[in-house]
Amino acid sequence: MLLIRHANLADGRLRQSVLVKDGRFEAVAADLVAGNDCPVLEAEGCLLTAPFVDAHFHLDAALSHGLPRVNRSGTLLEGIALWGELKPQLTQQALVERALSYCDWAVGRGLLAIRSHVDVCDERLLAVEALLHVRERVRPYLDLQLVAFPQDGLLRSPTALANLKRALDRGVDVVGGIPHFERTMADGARSIELLCELAAERGLRVDMHCDESDDPLSRHVETLAYHTQRLGLQGRVTASHLTSMHSMDNYYVSKLLPLMAEAGLQVVANPLINITLQGRHDSYPKRRGMTRVPELLAAGINVGFGHDCVLDPWYPLGSADMLEVAHMGLHVAQMTSTRGQLDCFDAVTVNNARVMGLDRYGIHPGAPADCVLLQAHDAAEAIRLRANRLWVMRRGEIIARSPVAEASLTLPGRPAAVNWSLPVR
Ligand SMILES: [Zn+2]
Repeated sequence: MLLIRHANLADGRLRQSVLVKDGRFEAVAADLVAGNDCPVLEAEGCLLTAPFVDAHFHLDAALSHGLPRVNRSGTLLEGIALWGELKPQLTQQALVERALSYCDWAVGRGLLAIRSHVDVCDERLLAVEALLHVRERVRPYLDLQLVAFPQDGLLRSPTALANLKRALDRGVDVVGGIPHFERTMADGARSIELLCELAAERGLRVDMHCDESDDPLSRHVETLAYHTQRLGLQGRVTASHLTSMHSMDNYYVSKLLPLMAEAGLQVVANPLINITLQGRHDSYPKRRGMTRVPELLAAGINVGFGHDCVLDPWYPLGSADMLEVAHMGLHVAQMTSTRGQLDCFDAVTVNNARVMGLDRYGIHPGAPADCVLLQAHDAAEAIRLRANRLWVMRRGEIIARSPVAEASLTLPGRPAAVNWSLPVR
């Protein structure tokens, strides 16, 4: 038994008490009282949130930056070519070690659930084996969900479909795809049909890299919505990236959004990566390539934000910080309204949990006692400060701590430490 006192919650409830018992949340209320022998964690008005969730990542490539060389053009296509150069040199041990290191970073940042794509275009299925092993190793402290991802194209690579099925047989959780990388639009559409049918047969979820280009005529998401509805997969299908939607004709999008909503499609945008990889063929004005997040949300479509890449062939930065992802998403999508800021916080927590199908997620009685105490008072401040994670809890046990981030001052007539919050008015 454990009582967390004076915690602000992301939904706006202030100064709440949260009782934890046997690894679960037992009660949440303003005025819980603990027995004398019950340990108390004092939150002091800081934000207690359910853990961060990343609904789109590539754990097999993470932390491989510079191997065997860096991406000179910075484009998606050179990144894919570079990954192809690295693949034959990969070893299972190196894959496992890098993935475990990244999971350590994630825990330190309060990121306790990750959906990772894993490349299945390799006869040895080396990355699949490595990440299945990692999924079990980290299970006590991090929920890792794997997507069978045919990086070289389901139809473009002669063995991709067979390897993807083998990966699913081995226990990979979700069916992936990459229709815009097939040889033709028709092949892209055919790949979506095949993959959705496979998911329907096996009762699995779908998460495709979809329309990840600046081509306004790349319209695979329309096909994905169609097959989702045809096969009764509503609520189980995610379209990742959708960067082409940034460049699509506005009339066409006005027809597309209701079709996506009708099909119950979910969307994951990847702000850090979209803004750096897209628009590389533009001069000025330069497109920023992120999909239409506020418009998707307004249409009733669930939108999450993913990290996508950290120190890999596509992106030379990153540190498992989902608040950095939310911060970038907020700026690129101009979501500076009060509601918009909260939506961006939701996009790296509850919305991503919905994408992954984590149905016991959240701070409410009966849910697993997984949470993070942030050095911030509310969700907007957490994004603004990319707030320090004071402690991270899993099943009622604290598994990571960070010291209070503070800057001390030696200025005449000024306080001894900087206060990063808005002055009280
Ligand atoms: Zn991706």
